[in-house]
Amino acid sequence: MKYVSTRGSAPELGFSDVLLSGLASDGGLYVPTEWPSLPSIGSDYSSAAVAIMSAYIGDDIPTDVLIELVGDSYATFRHPAVAPLVQIDDELWIQELFHGPTLAFKDLALQVVGRLFDYVLAERGERVTIVGATSGDTGSAAIDAVKACDNVDIVILYPHGRTSEVQRRQMTTVDSPNVHAVAIDGTFDDCQDLVKAMFADEQLRNDCNLSAVNSINWARVMAQIVYYVTASESLSGSPTFCVPTGNFGNVLAGWIAKSTGASIDHLLIASNANDILARFVNDRDMSAADVVPTLSPSMDIQVSSNFERLLFEMNDRDGGMTAEQLQRFRSTGKLEVEEGEFRDWVSSTFSAERVDDEQTLAEIARVYSETGLLIDPHTATGTAAARRNDRSGATVCLATAHAAKFPDAVERATGIRPKLPTALGDLMERPEQITNLDADLAAVSAFVRQMSRVDR
Ligand SMILES: *Cc1c(COP(=O)(O)O)cnc(C)c1O
Repeated sequence: MKYVSTRGSAPELGFSDVLLSGLASDGGLYVPTEWPSLPSIGSDYSSAAVAIMSAYIGDDIPTDVLIELVGDSYATFRHPAVAPLVQIDDELWIQELFHGPTLAFKDLALQVVGRLFDYVLAERGERVTIVGATSGDTGSAAIDAVKACDNVDIVILYPHGRTSEVQRRQMTTVDSPNVHAVAIDGTFDDCQDLVKAMFADEQLRNDCNLSAVNSINWARVMAQIVYYVTASESLSGSPTFCVPTGNFGNVLAGWIAKSTGASIDHLLIASNANDILARFVNDRDMSAADVVPTLSPSMDIQVSSNFERLLFEMNDRDGGMTAEQLQRFRSTGKLEVEEGEFRDWVSSTFSAERVDDEQTLAEIARVYSETGLLIDPHTATGTAAARRNDRSGATVCLATAHAAKFPDAVERATGIRPKLPTALGDLMERPEQITNLDADLAAVSAFVRQMSRVDR
């Protein structure tokens, strides 16, 4: 199995190199040279994960190693089914993706990715420095996934004051010498730009062996394909999936599941007030606006990095054309896509709904009064979008976070403050370690150099 860059000029790599490098050297994202068809899956979540991931990993990791590593990853979950389906209305299910150690869906991918890193680095006798930007959930999930890795240092940038307290504490209270949480004076997009700029600095990239685990990392997208497949096989017919979306990573995994053979009718994107994707899908208008803080901060994003992978497919895998379009988007803030391609690639498969904060609170209250379940604001954008969109047949809405990760919004909507699972019970008392930095490339790069333990 080989991988190519969406911008066409980086070398083809195998899975392990793609895993460690994250972003391609030409600034693009790696995708398989060919999409493998979906294998038949076993009955439990871990076997399904091994079957699906093997098709993308090829010979790079021995199957017995993969089985063990995937088993260990999902053993950290608090539910034996890992990603259970719960019905909340006649044709509406939520798939609970929040039973992992940091209470958000990112654990499903990152617990595996952290172990894959550790295995590949130990085999090669190498170290890496992971740098990442987070709007809250990626950072905590990545830190939890690598906190025990001997060969990894991790520096996570998060926008100061824009994460929930639980999210922040899950990053700042991990007492491991290889973990560094940095509060940046800026937005999530500023943090993401800093990370991209550090990757573009070849000297820094090489000196520190920089690596990424944010949602551009191929291995994360790969691991997310699994729950679409297990859910679609559990329900009869072809369900629609509704996905609370920010960086487009999660819904891209749904697109891959569907295009490689999973029985999926349609993909519904739920956006909050940061609705660039909803505007694109509904009006072919991909123009960046300023980021507005909302009750669903993990979706407070205007530049959806993973969209590049779909764009590459839309362009018939022409990397040069993809690079040019993105260059233009960067300089003009507007992405132009031909109408024909748009119909074939976007409107035939995706719909989108924008759900604002008031509607989100009303939806949390509604689900609580109808079912007794407390859902988090990200999940609520999804269920609200699903009800409004009203496609026939079953809809599975991905429940991307545990209600206790966003207790303020849930309490505002229902009067009830959701409790943390017992394993996280003392989070609010643990001491925090935070570094504060300006959104300044030189300062942040210097910090990364200082924390990196790569020999040079
Ligand atoms: C990361 C995240 C999202 C957005 O996922 P993308 O892959 O960036 O689209 C939605 N909800 C929650 C709770 C998240 O942590």
